[in-house]
Amino acid sequence: MYRILDILKEEKGYLSGEAIGKRLEISRAAVWKGIQRLRKEGYEIEAVTNKGYRLTAYDTMYNQRELETGLRTQKMGRPLYFYPETDTTNHRIRELALEGAPEGTLAVAEKQTAGRGRLGRHWEAPAGTGIWMSLLLRPNIVPAEASVLTLLAGIALTEAVQDVTGLSPAIKWPNDILLNGKKLAGILTEMDCEMSQVHFIVSGMGINVNTAEFPEELRDIATSLYLESGRTFSRRQLLQRVLECFEGLYHEFLQAGSFSPFLERYRAKCLNLGKEVRVIGRETFLATALDITPSGELVVKRQDTGKEEIIFSGEVSIRGEEQRI
Ligand code: ADP
Repeated sequence: MYRILDILKEEKGYLSGEAIGKRLEISRAAVWKGIQRLRKEGYEIEAVTNKGYRLTAYDTMYNQRELETGLRTQKMGRPLYFYPETDTTNHRIRELALEGAPEGTLAVAEKQTAGRGRLGRHWEAPAGTGIWMSLLLRPNIVPAEASVLTLLAGIALTEAVQDVTGLSPAIKWPNDILLNGKKLAGILTEMDCEMSQVHFIVSGMGINVNTAEFPEELRDIATSLYLESGRTFSRRQLLQRVLECFEGLYHEFLQAGSFSPFLERYRAKCLNLGKEVRVIGRETFLATALDITPSGELVVKRQDTGKEEIIFSGEVSIRGEEQRI
């Protein structure tokens, strides 16, 4: 049936059942059956007497087949698993990793029923509006280096959004992507490791793409590409661009063996530097964010003691001056 889909995509206009049947050497009845199955999957196919079949807009289609079509990566998103609904894509990748799945394996969900942020916080991930996905990585690094993968994912997300939409989001260290002061996307990096060795890393990403409305409690702090621009975007195109951007950065990171080559890019996109932040962890205090270290930590100057301190991403949340996000 996908061969029928490919023919309809190529044709753009109407094509008779007979013509399709001839090309594929199947009967008109078989073409009809294939069309019915494609419609069941959500493809809109018009049928007009004396003209034939025509595929109407499929750019909004979001399934395994469409996400794989036109993906220009070597590794990332190969293979790709699509779930109409799942608890979290990080769970799916964890399971797949334990079964021996290769680096680059991707889980994409139309809807997450138990989406999470850091420290088990809820992440709103309804159907039809966003990109909820997790990537399996198997880098040969020690656990202490793993947090830079969150920062790399942050750079990939901002670059991909910029490429596809022309909008320029910023990064709130370590794992949030903000647009006009509100949260557009989040990153949740989890790892499976021993003291001295990383077994695998799950890089989870959530992007609000075409969300028109958020639940009450998120209205002031969350946003989407649609809400900021008044335009809807193809989730497929953006997802593919994120994978392409991430693949390039990840390759460069492994070659360099450090995050140093990315520091300048990260600093330029990081909106906390030079600003006051509230560090919320075992201890809560106000500080000025000064810099990012080559291993991805945040250097701050505490306001109470006047001393510099290094903040590790796993332990804390920070809030900007306005203290909402
Ligand atoms: P933090 O900003 O403290 O690092 P997390 O990265 O753990 O937070 O993300 C979880 C938080 O993000 C939730 O507590 C909620 O406030 C917010 N949130 C949940 N779902 C969404 C969403 N779809 N878009 C933007 N923000 C969200």
